[in-house]
Amino acid sequence: MNLILLGAPGAGKGTQAEILKEKLAIPTISTGNILREAVKNETPLGLEAKGYMESGKLVPDALVISIIEERLTKDDCKNGFILDGFPRTIPQAEALQEGGVRIDKALEIAVSDDVIIARLSGRRVCSGCGAPYHMISCPPPADNICPKCGAEIITRKDDLPETIKHRLDVYHEQTEPLKGFYGDQGKLAVVNGENGIEETTRLALEALGV
Ligand code: AMP
Repeated sequence: MNLILLGAPGAGKGTQAEILKEKLAIPTISTGNILREAVKNETPLGLEAKGYMESGKLVPDALVISIIEERLTKDDCKNGFILDGFPRTIPQAEALQEGGVRIDKALEIAVSDDVIIARLSGRRVCSGCGAPYHMISCPPPADNICPKCGAEIITRKDDLPETIKHRLDVYHEQTEPLKGFYGDQGKLAVVNGENGIEETTRLALEALGV
């Protein structure tokens, strides 16, 4: 199955992508993770993407399209893949289509803006191993040191309050039109993502018919 996960930042795409990849035995490709790794390693791609990402803007289409085109040629994508965070604009979706990449389903994880803001503003991440924490559901230790690897637990720059608002605006303006794009092709499925991880997975599997 070639699957796209749609949804606002913080809707739970990354979490569901990790669960679904085990259940469906296909890889997850997250442009956000690829870009964050490039920023951390200060590669040319990372240096170009850094400013956009930290201010909550989208990285230019050409850059992410070339990342995905290259990644999809790898052997592990032969039996299917889950795209998490791509496409995020109509030109990105058109590039996939023009490149002959078949998409079977676009699954939207629907979460209201209020819930997104509460989720993202409480989100913390380990600067070393990337382990996720949350001030309410999974609080970091008082010293902010990750028990898994000993590195500092931080707030992602793009999870700062002013940036969250901007990312949501970008989502509504540039990414939400993809619902129409895939809806018109009869490929859109929408599941409620507000009722916890397990319930969202259950609804997702039901919607995918697996
Ligand atoms: P994410 O972890 O998916 O929220 O992505 C983090 C950031 O990476 C986004 O706010 C964008 O700056 C950038 N990014 C990730 N995927 C894309 C994409 N498909 N198009 C443009 N920018 C992207």
